[in-house]
Amino acid sequence: MQPTGRAVPAPHPDAESQPFWDAAAQGRFLIKRCTSCGEAHWFPRTLCPFCWSDKTEWIEGSGTGTIYSWTVMHRAKPPYAVAYVELAEGPRMLTNIVECDLDRLHIGQQVELVFTPTSGEDTPPVPMFRPIGG
Ligand SMILES: [Zn+2]
Repeated sequence: MQPTGRAVPAPHPDAESQPFWDAAAQGRFLIKRCTSCGEAHWFPRTLCPFCWSDKTEWIEGSGTGTIYSWTVMHRAKPPYAVAYVELAEGPRMLTNIVECDLDRLHIGQQVELVFTPTSGEDTPPVPMFRPIGG
């Protein structure tokens, strides 16, 4: 895990997302998939957002994806990038791009998961992404 140079607020797990954060604390990236329609989704929900089935299961995500869109928060100190990353499994996830040259980000860029520590005590890390190959 790498520091981003800014304090990252701790997540607030709820009943639906607690398994995700428990796994994140162990460095595992879980997403949910519906066993009725087969679609994966993010963020974790009990009901599938595609077909409303409650037959969803946790699966281990590959942690790779591509940048779907992004913006740089230039006025923040230090500046940072917010992006939608389209995961290899299909879902789009609102996240941050870290360990990167903010001027060289582009749509379609390949990225990989990096769990980033949060500012609380004993709080789970949050999933962020960094470009593959720098
Ligand atoms: Zn479904």
